[in-house]
Amino acid sequence: MSCRESDIIGWFDAAAESAAGQQTETLRRILLRNHAAEYLKKWLGDVDVQSLDASALESLFASAVPLASHADLEPYIRRIADGETTPLLTQEPITTLSLSSGTTEGRPKYVPFTRHSSETTLQIFKLAAAYRSRMYPTREKGRVLEFIYSSKRSKTKGGITVGTATTHVYASEEFKMKQHETKLYTCSPQEVISSGDYKQSAYCHLLLGIHYAKEVEYVTSTFAYSVVQAFRSFQEVWREICNDIRDGTLSPTRVTIPDVRRAVLEVLRPNPGLASKVEAKCQDLERRDWMGLIPELWPNAKYVYSIMTGSMQPYLSKLSHYAGNLALISADYGSTESWIGVNMEPCSPPDKVTFAVIPTFSYFEFIPLRRQSHDTDDCHNTDDFVEDDPVPLSQVKMGKEYEIVLTTFTGLYRYRLGDVVEVTGFHRNTPKLNFICRRKLILTVNIDKNTEKDLQSVVARGSQILRNTRAELVDFTSHADIGRQPGHYIIYWEIEGEVEEHVLEECCREMDAAFVDQGYIVSRKCNSIGPLELRIVEKGTFKKIMENFIANGAALSQFKTPRCTSNPALLRILNICTIKNFHSTAYAS
Ligand code: AMP
Repeated sequence: MSCRESDIIGWFDAAAESAAGQQTETLRRILLRNHAAEYLKKWLGDVDVQSLDASALESLFASAVPLASHADLEPYIRRIADGETTPLLTQEPITTLSLSSGTTEGRPKYVPFTRHSSETTLQIFKLAAAYRSRMYPTREKGRVLEFIYSSKRSKTKGGITVGTATTHVYASEEFKMKQHETKLYTCSPQEVISSGDYKQSAYCHLLLGIHYAKEVEYVTSTFAYSVVQAFRSFQEVWREICNDIRDGTLSPTRVTIPDVRRAVLEVLRPNPGLASKVEAKCQDLERRDWMGLIPELWPNAKYVYSIMTGSMQPYLSKLSHYAGNLALISADYGSTESWIGVNMEPCSPPDKVTFAVIPTFSYFEFIPLRRQSHDTDDCHNTDDFVEDDPVPLSQVKMGKEYEIVLTTFTGLYRYRLGDVVEVTGFHRNTPKLNFICRRKLILTVNIDKNTEKDLQSVVARGSQILRNTRAELVDFTSHADIGRQPGHYIIYWEIEGEVEEHVLEECCREMDAAFVDQGYIVSRKCNSIGPLELRIVEKGTFKKIMENFIANGAALSQFKTPRCTSNPALLRILNICTIKNFHSTAYAS
């Protein structure tokens, strides 16, 4: 491990040791900087922030400033977007806004992005890289095969730059610094990352990845979905890639954007030897259903690094299939609003990973959540947790679940992130979190309450049955159909490979029976919820859904398939693409 790496780990150890003090100090710094902004003035009035010590400030803050949702801050963010320059959320004017992906409803949300956002991104990248290189050292001046994509940036009528947070980061000085400081360079030039056309970028990432095959030290993307998606498309385009490698050319049909063509062609040189080798490997891999594709084509790669937790879990088995015996390292925990925690133990399997909170990045509060007893009379409750009052980081308890609340340097105050986490332990005095799910309930018809996590387990149970066939689940989503009585759940599946109808009937029955929520079970037994319906959609449907998101401003790097949707545009795509449907026979007396 280099000096620089041990320095940054030392820095984090010290911050974690004094986590409580770091938190009050972080809050003090945020308030000192921004107390004159309109939003804070509204709640804190003319309190002399300077005169209060850190812990008095902490109690004042919690009692005077209310918990907020994005909707509460939106009017201020809209005024910023419209060009108002008076201090609204922060003292310094905000010139950039980020599009948060809005994972539950698929509706884009703008949040402020400042220099602090890129600086903390660089900081956590370096910290995580230091932990990884302790376990899996990489060679200096190597390459990283990164499936990263910027979306287009635009200006609001008030002249504010808007784009996704990843787009701002890839365009920042800090992103260049990250490459220099970690001494690892991404395979693709900036023109590829920011082409704005994910298909063209993906082709170039793969082509350049092959070009630099021997130098690639690891394979990565923000979310695991993008790695899986890239290799699925590799299975279709590998012959063209080999032709381009052989001749030093770039397919004129796959890549048409002049700047991207110029930048990629500058790098490529005819390499018939490499092309023949890759071709032979691909022919062999095709026979093995592409098992172990990554180590076969990138023999010096040490690991695959990506977010594999939460809504990415369903892609894990396909990722392992491509990764063969290569380590899978689950990446860190953050959001467009703020980075939260780092994975300090790269060796832990993706389903066991925890994130140690970085106490200097934002001021974190935690709303204690208790799961409700499944009270069937409780028809009006739309959430399955009871909340207690928020507690500061220093008071969280091991084994308990919380919703995260953020106060950031970028102008969000007591902002409910909507993520549920469990405290699984501590690194020194900072909590280690296990990501549980997004807070919002996703599937509900009446008294039933099922979260994203519940749905994931049910789909995992159902798709287990496909293991005995040659088919596999590509992606899924769901919808609570209350248009007809009784309402019922619809689960949409896209499958690759052939499977007999009776097997799908069995999958459908298995999923219906696998919901453990008492509200659902009781409702199914008395038929106040109808039989679960499994709809099989044609190949490529989920790609269309992703493209629909991208057409609406999301970036592929940030994309997460919505696991439940009532969005009419998505439902239209899903229903047009449905080729078969099945109704469950579970609970049929
Ligand atoms: P975005 O709005 O696109 O920035 O997405 C942020 C959200 O992605 C978070 O609030 C989480 O719900 C999810 N997320 C981010 N990092 C992780 C992680 N390491 N594990 C699970 N979910 C994550």
